[in-house]
Amino acid sequence: MAHIVIIGAGLGGMPMAYEMKELARPGDRVTVVSNAPTFHFVPSNPWVAVNWRKRDDIEFPVAEYLGRKGIEFTSAGAKRVHPEKNQVELGDGTLLDYDFLVVATGPRLAFDEVEGLGPEHHTQSVCHVDHAIAAGSAWEDFVKKPGPIVVGAVQGASCYGPAYEFAFIMDTDLRRRKIRDRVPMTFVTAEPYIGHLGLGGVGDSKTLLESAMRDRDIKWICNAKTTRVEAGKMFVTEHDDMGREKRTHELPFGFSMMLPAFKGVDAVIGIEGLVNPRGFVLIDEHQRNPKYRNIYAVGVCVAIPPVEVTPVPTGAPKTGFMIESMVTATAHNIRAVLDGREPDEKATWNALCLADFGDTGVAFVALPQIPPRNVNWFSEGRWVHLAKVAFEKYFIRKMKKGTSEPVYERLVMHALGIRKLKSPD
Ligand SMILES: Cc1cc2nc3c(=O)[nH]c(=O)nc-3n(C[C@H](O)[C@H](O)[C@H](O)COP(=O)(O)OP(=O)(O)OC[C@H]3O[C@@H](n4cnc5c(N)ncnc54)[C@H](O)[C@@H]3O)c2cc1C
Repeated sequence: MAHIVIIGAGLGGMPMAYEMKELARPGDRVTVVSNAPTFHFVPSNPWVAVNWRKRDDIEFPVAEYLGRKGIEFTSAGAKRVHPEKNQVELGDGTLLDYDFLVVATGPRLAFDEVEGLGPEHHTQSVCHVDHAIAAGSAWEDFVKKPGPIVVGAVQGASCYGPAYEFAFIMDTDLRRRKIRDRVPMTFVTAEPYIGHLGLGGVGDSKTLLESAMRDRDIKWICNAKTTRVEAGKMFVTEHDDMGREKRTHELPFGFSMMLPAFKGVDAVIGIEGLVNPRGFVLIDEHQRNPKYRNIYAVGVCVAIPPVEVTPVPTGAPKTGFMIESMVTATAHNIRAVLDGREPDEKATWNALCLADFGDTGVAFVALPQIPPRNVNWFSEGRWVHLAKVAFEKYFIRKMKKGTSEPVYERLVMHALGIRKLKSPD
């Protein structure tokens, strides 16, 4: 019988555990290793950061729910993967043997690549619920003494949707408090244009998001490298289309949230053949590492190239819809190997982005993620905000219930009115 170990209990790791358990043979063991006892729904962090959600609304301890499905769990964390020995060294020093390993650790947040960046220094973050809680407390102080806001994503970032989302959410919160007129807002981004999203744009995302920002009096600086942050001041260099320095900006702020670049986690970084130079796990079209063929990866920790070269480096986002299809492909492929067959399932590599504005929102669907595409769809309206609220509740319920139905795919098919999504070929 096989032991399948999954590292990470986030948006990728939790569905991975349930789907793997359903597809494994009776007697196969599935174990989840996380570095925290809880799951939290990352897409809701921006709401936590303005205190529209409390921690308990989006976070719950996982051991009990996984246990109900016969899935073992430890929160000792993975200190180091030893692929030559088929072992994971845990944070408490024990060694866990595996037959198959699925890496689902999400990113290491590379705040250290920009001096003064991040919650331990001068800017807030919404990448983790702990950061969002700290941001929520800073937000309460800020609204008592409003001033300028700088929000966005630094060079090398791959996740832009939440930066836009958080800008619009703050705008909505400030308008509700009737203090928006006292808060100049600047959006600073490595993207070559507003609405690029690390995806080369989706349909008319440029026009749509520029228009939304103009409507809400949010200024922007694109092709921006954030060079340094001091208390209350951000130093930004703007580049032209050729990547040459064009202008420098010193932006004062009373509150700032900047998304960092991502890297791979310490447990895998530097392992030759397993990860790329930034620590992202190398995978083939079946989610399997080409060198260590019993190691698979899903979620933000996988290595995928940027959609296109941009004057200031940007990465490609890995969103929930794509992650869900990686999970399904991985579970089927591990089962195939258990049955003595070759892996044959591929993830669909499509992108869905629901960007909540706090009262309304915009939704983008890119099929496939890399242009040219078969479908470039977007829509805006209050339905996006309502869908995002409903989706949060649905996803958390699903993680407690332990079912593996594809929720993102269902949402997209509903929005597009189509029956079946295909892999790229
Ligand atoms: C603020 C924000 C909002 C987003 N909103 C959306 C959205 O609306 N829609 C969308 O489609 N996508 C969204 N995304 C993108 C993406 O869906 C999320 O980042 C998602 O959480 C990625 O899932 P993951 O499993 O790869 O990583 P995570 O959900 O971050 O999970 C990683 C897990 O690994 C664990 N872990 C880390 N290191 C170790 C270790 N050494 N040992 C053991 N466990 C470890 C963590 O504790 C966690 O349980 C958003 C991303 C961010 C940052």
